[in-house]
Amino acid sequence: MSEPASIPDLPVLISSAAVAARINEMAQTIAADYAGKALTLVGILKGAFVFLADLSRRLPLPLWIDFIEVSSYGAAASSSGAVKLVRDLSHDPAGRHILLVEDIVDTGLTMHYLYDMFRARGALSVEAAALLVRSGKRSGLPGLRYTGFELDTEAFVAGYGMDYSGLFRNIPDVVRLDEPSRFDSLR
Ligand code: 5GP
Repeated sequence: MSEPASIPDLPVLISSAAVAARINEMAQTIAADYAGKALTLVGILKGAFVFLADLSRRLPLPLWIDFIEVSSYGAAASSSGAVKLVRDLSHDPAGRHILLVEDIVDTGLTMHYLYDMFRARGALSVEAAALLVRSGKRSGLPGLRYTGFELDTEAFVAGYGMDYSGLFRNIPDVVRLDEPSRFDSLR
């Protein structure tokens, strides 16, 4: 058996300490906004699993936690940029306050699709918290109420739950992948 490859040293865009501090602030705002209500966090798999784990533990609210998995076909695969539901929730969202938890908003298609879906399924309210939002994508997105950081780069990012081709989700910081394809040999 060959030796396992080590995790490469990648440029840190946002340190795990900065992420933790920002999540504390976001959690305080969310806790105040939903005071007296029961909230359902819906983590968008797979990239949001670390963010959801940290955010949920900062929220002193009665919480349900559920997950949904979607895959998006970017412009290369489909001109419509369609989003496909891969794994559905375990619980009916009707009559619940839903907070979508997303790792990064890029074009906003995923968030748009899920917002419409949860409204159609009878959620009492639908809002979203995204750790990262690419600059300029924030306005016009329904429900995007809580944002961790605005990303003023088009660079591909990974770490803190986010992957490149399935890898790097376990890196504690948000890192930048300048040439993602150079890691293809690790797959
Ligand atoms: P959108 O539908 O907003 O265009 O795309 C959102 C999804 O695309 C995110 O949930 C994430 O899975 C993926 N994504 C967009 N940009 C990046 C990036 O820079 N790095 C990673 N790892 N995923 C990204």
